[in-house]
Amino acid sequence: MHIVRVIEQDQFKIVGKICDRCHREAREVDAGTLLELQEFVTITVEPGYGAEHFRDGEVLRADFCERCANALLARYLRLVARPEQIWAHLSSRLLTVELGDSRAKD
Ligand SMILES: [Zn+2]
Repeated sequence: MHIVRVIEQDQFKIVGKICDRCHREAREVDAGTLLELQEFVTITVEPGYGAEHFRDGEVLRADFCERCANALLARYLRLVARPEQIWAHLSSRLLTVELGDSRAKD
């Protein structure tokens, strides 16, 4: 569950999350739980017309702390990228942006 702060009438900001399994809270203003907040896993289900187990048009969401996400999902998760691959990709994008900036100055 998201903990939100209302900014304006129709605008809000997610400032924390509550695990839907163990009910642990993590908030961005709490230095002790900020890192935990960043590791929360949010699952959103948006069933379509042919759904048999959910209702078409509904949006369902669950938030899990890292510990509960591991307990519930680890057996189903597949490794699709290693950290070094992510960093290489981000570095190449950063390099592209830097080159783009330098070319713009010429
Ligand atoms: Zn939990």
